[in-house]
Amino acid sequence: MGKGREGRRLAPRTLGTVTFPVVGMVGGGQLARMTHEAGIPLGIRFKLLSDTAQDSAAQVAGEVVVGDYRDLDTLRRFAHGCDVITFDHEHVPTEHLRALEADGIPVRPGPDALVHAQDKGVMRARLAELGVPAPRNRIVRDPNDVAAFAREGAPGTAGGFPVVLKTVRGGYDGKGVWIVRGADDPNASEPFKAGVAVLAEEKVDFTRELAANVVRSPHGQAVAYPVVESIQVDGVCDTVIAPAPGLGEDAAVRAQELALRIAHELGVVGHLAVELFETADGGVLVNELAMRPHNSGHWSQDGAVTSQFANHVRAVLDLPLGDPRCRAPWTVMANVLGGDYPDMYAAYLHCMARDPQLKIHMYGKDVKPGRKVGHVNVYGDDLADVRERAAHAAGYLRGTVTE
Ligand code: ADP
Repeated sequence: MGKGREGRRLAPRTLGTVTFPVVGMVGGGQLARMTHEAGIPLGIRFKLLSDTAQDSAAQVAGEVVVGDYRDLDTLRRFAHGCDVITFDHEHVPTEHLRALEADGIPVRPGPDALVHAQDKGVMRARLAELGVPAPRNRIVRDPNDVAAFAREGAPGTAGGFPVVLKTVRGGYDGKGVWIVRGADDPNASEPFKAGVAVLAEEKVDFTRELAANVVRSPHGQAVAYPVVESIQVDGVCDTVIAPAPGLGEDAAVRAQELALRIAHELGVVGHLAVELFETADGGVLVNELAMRPHNSGHWSQDGAVTSQFANHVRAVLDLPLGDPRCRAPWTVMANVLGGDYPDMYAAYLHCMARDPQLKIHMYGKDVKPGRKVGHVNVYGDDLADVRERAAHAAGYLRGTVTE
């Protein structure tokens, strides 16, 4: 504190007379688009490394480099002129991130933290060292190993089949996750075909899924969002309710403290989503970590004082973090998936007329069945009403609700 204008800030690059930092964002998806959006009121400039010029964020970013994030030379050319590098996905090879750091470019979150969101095996091993509660799990090599893992389920736990198999890298939205119901289930061999290490987990009989989202900055300041409930349909997030209904204050604080501890221990910078399974005894098990803005935090755009995107930008620039608290008793986010009608704009008329308080966020993506193309946020005092309005709007945009 008290360091004034010469404090420990990144020294921003000068473009003409404009001296605001340039955030380099790797990945052109909707998370990049919405992070960019959150930086605009602050005058932060964005440079994007995108797979194609049509990607969600590439449509709106001022400076776009189209290239392959797996290629170090491309990453180096992209990083030139950026004050800091951050991500919309976790797939940049760890050794490339180390090379960028060695070139003197701040990478946030850094490779030592990010590897825990890139590799579920590394994540499970580290969380076990930290004593963080998690489903029973082990790396398995073949279907015999899977059967052995199932048999070892300790009495009184959820041992035996079904077992959940996950590729340690590259999964998202339930892709890369298989449920194995018995030794003869073809799913027992399917994951091994990808040539990636496979993690076996007990199938948790959870009561619901929660997410504890936190943001941490390089100087160690951290904020915790209210714990939310996340409802999945076919392995894809469908609805998020903030705060999680019926979650006692003690349980909520314990989950927030757990997420803050994980962020601190792993040295996370930026937004960390800790996906949790709530169990019948009121405890939680950690399912998954994501070190970037996350679908379970989209509600915060309209429902929190400072959104996850705005706080991610602040964190990677080491600015003081904003207030994460709710603006209304309840906020519900419903994802808009593609349906049978490619023209979603045609649905705006009815949705907006029906609910003037509705907040629509579309990603500029082509509508394909089942693809996440946007979300809606609704907030208010009455949970049942807020849920109904969010579900109605998402369903109407998709075409599954017709009036
Ligand atoms: P992804 O990387 O695709 O998000 P996750 O590990 O989050 O994969 O799994 C996707 C979904 O599969 C979870 O949200 C949950 O509904 C279910 N799932 C994953 N692991 C387990 C488990 N061990 N027990 C029960 N359900 C699980």
